[in-house]
Amino acid sequence: MPELPEVQMVVTTLRPRLLGRPIRRVRVLRADIIRPKGVDLAPLLQDRQVTEIARRAKRIVITLDGQQRFYVHLGMTGRLTMEAAGSPLAPHTHLVLEMDDASEVHFHDPRRFGGVWWLGTDALPEAKLGPEPFDLSADQLGARLAKTRRPVKTALLDQSLIAGLGNIYADEALFTAGIHPLTPANALRRKQVEALNRAIKATLNRAIRHKGSTLRDYRDADGKPGDFQKLHRVYDRAGNPCVNCGKLVKRLVIGGRSAHFCPKCQKPPRKRP
Ligand SMILES: [Zn+2]
Repeated sequence: MPELPEVQMVVTTLRPRLLGRPIRRVRVLRADIIRPKGVDLAPLLQDRQVTEIARRAKRIVITLDGQQRFYVHLGMTGRLTMEAAGSPLAPHTHLVLEMDDASEVHFHDPRRFGGVWWLGTDALPEAKLGPEPFDLSADQLGARLAKTRRPVKTALLDQSLIAGLGNIYADEALFTAGIHPLTPANALRRKQVEALNRAIKATLNRAIRHKGSTLRDYRDADGKPGDFQKLHRVYDRAGNPCVNCGKLVKRLVIGGRSAHFCPKCQKPPRKRP
């Protein structure tokens, strides 16, 4: 599933291709990927100019002239790619935006957990989204983690606590910080919270430098896969030696999601008296 670095890559690669360009024609091939249900997207987008493309959490937010906006969520398997006009449509292409320069934006999503949300001039529904990891201080992260006894791994996946992290980068950040994924979030010591805050930013920055992780489906807007999956240190490496100490990386299921960690570098939480 695309996480923050992958969504950021899509935004970064779309921006130079779309900014300032008008959308000439809109082809909706599957109306049920558009929300709210029943919105007729074509007349809303046609002949409108793209003025901004930004990321908020895992959403790709596109602003049109007149400050009207829509956003794309890639879900599990979504891709937003630039294609030459008239390119054959891959199966599961649900939306095509024809631009004025003989290019097209294709939204393609086999599993359809993603979609396109029309906002108009409404604000982005922020209520359920936590702060961006890059904006978070150790104090703020600590205050948010202190409110829950859930395992820290589960807490990091909670988008209302911190936005944009998923399984890969939560596992990698916990490894970098030397924190066992089962540690109750509210039992982390100050030093651990500081280490975790640094590790989250460092992990995401490193992933962005390597253009994200491609496990199966992810591609940027130019159709290129990421490279960071080759540099994962614990994620999906169960049974392989830890890059630090040589112990075998373990996998556990925590809160219904797999967690990967080194049993030596990430000491299990001590039982509280
Ligand atoms: Zn280790």
